[in-house]
Amino acid sequence: MSVNASRPAPLLRVEDVVVEYPRKGLPPMRALAGVGLEIAPGEVVGIVGESGCGKSTLARAVTGLAPAHTGSVTFDGTPVGAMGRRRRAPGLLPLQMVFQDPNASLNPRRTIGAQIQEVVVARERARGAGRRRSDPENAREAVEALRRVGLPDGAAEKYPHEFSGGQRQRAAIARALASRPKMIVADEPVSALDASAQAAVANLLRDLSREEGIALAFISHDLAVVGALADRVVVMYLGRVVETGTVEQIFNAPQHPYTQALLAAVPVPDGSGTRPRALTGEVPDPGSPPPGCRFHPRCPLAVGRCRSDEPALLRAPGATAEPEVACWVAQESGPATHTAPAPPTA
Ligand code: ADP
Ligand code: MG
Repeated sequence: MSVNASRPAPLLRVEDVVVEYPRKGLPPMRALAGVGLEIAPGEVVGIVGESGCGKSTLARAVTGLAPAHTGSVTFDGTPVGAMGRRRRAPGLLPLQMVFQDPNASLNPRRTIGAQIQEVVVARERARGAGRRRSDPENAREAVEALRRVGLPDGAAEKYPHEFSGGQRQRAAIARALASRPKMIVADEPVSALDASAQAAVANLLRDLSREEGIALAFISHDLAVVGALADRVVVMYLGRVVETGTVEQIFNAPQHPYTQALLAAVPVPDGSGTRPRALTGEVPDPGSPPPGCRFHPRCPLAVGRCRSDEPALLRAPGATAEPEVACWVAQESGPATHTAPAPPTA
């Protein structure tokens, strides 16, 4: 990934990461095939791509849950693999995960307030210095944290099952915030919620990130969701990053035919339906990707070279920074003409 002098030093740096899952009797599943990206402090980055392209594996690699086969992940100057077990204990990692299913991070047998207090106590103990805080102080912080995410008074005394899906996700976000992270990785955090809760929870994550200066990697299969809240977008296809750019660049001048196809499937804001779906064909098995450009069997612009040589992620011709694109055709001829919708407004 290129170094952009106008951006601050990255908080998260992912360099050429390969993650493989072993499979019985088959070659390993290469879920990430050399992924690089950077996220600056406080930046909101949307990571988007179809199911199976490696988004959750990237989240796991970033949090150290899926060790990188090759390549490196550095968070706040420390290689993620080198962060001790203790630091990775719940609530202590400066990089917190929010999952699609909030039950993955909540204990069904304890009240929400108790679970947040547990994180607060662990955090204060890890900091070591100073006097120990009192239980009432910790309890007050838990109540305040739940108010911060928009849960009603009394939420602290409730159990996870007493909440709606959207409220439960808010509680999981409050728990993640209690460790005072520098970054949150949210993996499809609204995909399981009903339509009204989706926008509310997505906006909550974005607002908290802005107000607290927490970097946010927001993972979604839905480009429209990502476009409504991100500063920057990273588009993945079959274990690789195929394009990155600001949300304006991605929506107004997408360079990669895959990004263009994703955009063509975004519903038109005036409600007149979706554009014709440009993307055809099945996503190939990431364990045995096509040769050359992984997208070529589904690509309307593929030329001879695309079938044999894999394109690297490079700056567009004439661009000083982003966008970056991994496409022979876009790199050689500049962006293909494309009429795109305006970026959605939040
Ligand atoms: P996404 O989150 O974008 O849907 P994933 O990272 O979950 O993608 O998966 C990427 C690829 O790796 C998929 O083909 C998936 O089937 C495969 N995969 C994910 N987890 C495992 C695992 N534990 N063992 C084997 N294959 C896996
Ligand atoms: Mg996933």
